[in-house]
Amino acid sequence: MTYIIAEPCINTKDTACVDVCPVDCIHPTKNEPDFEKETKLYIDPEECIDCGACEPVCPVEAIFEEAATPDKWKQFIQIDADFQGAPPETAAPLFVISRGQTAP
Ligand code: SF4
Ligand code: SF4
Repeated sequence: MTYIIAEPCINTKDTACVDVCPVDCIHPTKNEPDFEKETKLYIDPEECIDCGACEPVCPVEAIFEEAATPDKWKQFIQIDADFQGAPPETAAPLFVISRGQTAP
């Protein structure tokens, strides 16, 4: 089990969650080179200890326990996992493809 970050983080990205995570598993942080080009932050499912500290501090309610993720945002479970497992230049197109599925 892990926590995930869904659509409301996109272009909000205020990093309030990063500040409270005890294991630093939310990326990219403001100090990481990919911060500016990413539209949201991602939780590393391998590192997350499920403490739940990040969920209440998110101002836009973008963070969910994986099992509690609303159906409309289930794809973000994989999107967060993909970001941690691949270089950002690979993860970003995956996200675009996922978003594009609902486009006309
Ligand atoms: S649940 Fe805890 S460990 Fe997991 S991302 Fe949130 S603050 Fe970090
Ligand atoms: S607190 Fe919420 S909006 Fe802010 S970076 Fe984290 S997930 Fe995104």
